[in-house]
Amino acid sequence: MVKKQFKAESKRLLDLMINSIYTHKEIFLREIISNASDALDKLCYLSLTDDKVGMSRSDFNIKVTVDVQNRTVTVTDNGIGMNREEMEKNLGVIANSGSFKFKNELSDENKKDREIDIIGQFGVGFYSAFMVSDKVEVISRAFGEDSAYIWESSGADGYTIKEAEKQTVGTDIIMHIKEDTDGENYSEFLESYRLRALIKKYSDYIRYPIKMDIEKTRSVETDETDENGNKKTKTETYTETETVNSMVPIWQRNKSEVSDEDCKAFYKEHFFDMEDPARVIRVNAEGTVEYKAMLFVPSKAPYGYFTKDFEKGLQLYTSGVLIMDKCEDLVPEHFRFVKGVVDSQNLSLNISREILQHDKQLKVIASNLEKKIKSELKKMMTDDRQIYEKFWQAFGIQLKYGVVNDFGMHKDLLSDLLMFYSSTEKKLVSIAEYIARMPQDQKFIYFASGDSIEKIDQLPQTELVKDKGYEILYMTDSVDDFVVQMLGTFDEKQFKSVNDNDLGLESEEEKKEIEKSAEENKELLDFVKEALSGAVSNVRISNKLKSHPVCLTTEGPVTLEMEKYFKSIPGGEGMQAKAEKVLEINPNHKVMEALKAAFETNKEKAKKYAKILYSQSLLIAGLDIENPAEYADLVCELM
Ligand code: ADP
Repeated sequence: MVKKQFKAESKRLLDLMINSIYTHKEIFLREIISNASDALDKLCYLSLTDDKVGMSRSDFNIKVTVDVQNRTVTVTDNGIGMNREEMEKNLGVIANSGSFKFKNELSDENKKDREIDIIGQFGVGFYSAFMVSDKVEVISRAFGEDSAYIWESSGADGYTIKEAEKQTVGTDIIMHIKEDTDGENYSEFLESYRLRALIKKYSDYIRYPIKMDIEKTRSVETDETDENGNKKTKTETYTETETVNSMVPIWQRNKSEVSDEDCKAFYKEHFFDMEDPARVIRVNAEGTVEYKAMLFVPSKAPYGYFTKDFEKGLQLYTSGVLIMDKCEDLVPEHFRFVKGVVDSQNLSLNISREILQHDKQLKVIASNLEKKIKSELKKMMTDDRQIYEKFWQAFGIQLKYGVVNDFGMHKDLLSDLLMFYSSTEKKLVSIAEYIARMPQDQKFIYFASGDSIEKIDQLPQTELVKDKGYEILYMTDSVDDFVVQMLGTFDEKQFKSVNDNDLGLESEEEKKEIEKSAEENKELLDFVKEALSGAVSNVRISNKLKSHPVCLTTEGPVTLEMEKYFKSIPGGEGMQAKAEKVLEINPNHKVMEALKAAFETNKEKAKKYAKILYSQSLLIAGLDIENPAEYADLVCELM
């Protein structure tokens, strides 16, 4: 029989498994059992709707058998099984989740360290059997098929698939355990007690019984009697089939029984993450809708999170049966990063996925979970700031979009989870923290937007607010201006852009002075506006500049940041989203005198000054100047 070759990636993974230096080779059993459990899940799910399965929940199980003489460990399940094509597809190629990730990591330089990392953290699947076996046989019969097949491989040189005998639906994985070497003791995996301990350690929460024939001893009476006339006893060995795992899934167990470490390990293994979650959220709801949930907030965005391909959702179990892998209705869009499981007894089993989506109980659960996630994030923000900041780096933008989306429907839920950089604290702060620090006389929550903290910090229009000793929130995300606009206020305090014409900072006297200056210079301001031929909608005597000559602000609902944002999104250019720019001039700056003088004596020169000042305001605001060559020429000319 001709051997088929593994696909290239599979061969590499296989090579790595065979020559693994990984010290915890024992995890192979966890992987094989986890596959068996998946296969049981599939058939069990089918049994809910298909009478032909003819089995119920309690009929499904996994058995682990040891044959010391022949050095084999066999894992048997009565799950969905595989037909010939599926064997070919699933065991000849790496196509799936855990293994696929592994493939990606493999191309990296420092392979050996990576190996440890990856085998330890991820499910690496079926191939891990080759860490301890020199030959693996898979005998399987798929549900609904009459023939069974045997897949066989001794490693990198390929595999064969032949027809085989098997009376019942399901799969046997037969692992031929390697001979011991100087450095490695493989025979330990042929000891029932060792295997039992491994099942306890890694697979305790598998929701199907994992059975083993355990050899036991007992003392029995013999026919012989001792000198006192009592029957003599002897010890005899016998085997008894035991269910080794407790079968209670981790989320069903009491909080006191499950350590934080257990939850984290479960998360990493179950949801294929290398990093600990930022937060574990446990819910045990009683009352009208009973359910248990174990949710996780990842500490970084998974690969592809911000693409359309990312599917949100929680795993939904009912009475221990997985009925949906990604139930998207259980998490709102703004918390789409949350992963986890929900297990509810109350959900009807014979229900289709479509109906489930309109299920009232599911809606109640989803709404409760949303509140719970919110309160846990809030707690994290106060008690665990460092971890919250890490979370914020990964998913803050998601929360911001949450505030803006759906016409601001979720803004009250999300606003106190927001963080912005503070001009005075030099770190991320919440809006509530900002308000708590506000001096008595401060009326507004000041904010300034720009491309980066450094650039914002240099904006001329921040000067006066800073001078007053007030804190400013720096906004660097393109969505931030929309967020602030949507919020409007927080705790009845109004947000105020440093660009705003009325910053509420001047005294009545100062106000009058500016009004007076504006009146006196009306002709000049009109002239400047005219000279800039439509580039700005207004030219104004500034009330917010101290040492700088000019700054650029806006009027109306569209800010400079919003304009930039609209320009950046596909199709956004056509939108009516131009900011109405305002050039503000510092009446107390020398530049003003020069401008005035030119205006009175040499209109051509004044026009040039106007253009230079406008270009400067654009540059300071971090915008492109429309005609850089002209600007350069003008500056040179004046020099
Ligand atoms: P993963 O578990 O990440 O999908 P594996 O390499 O462990 O990857 O397994 C590959 C595929 O082989 C599985 O997705 C499944 O379709 C199939 N498979 C493995 N073990 C069994 C089994 N005991 N019964 C049925 N199918 C199985």
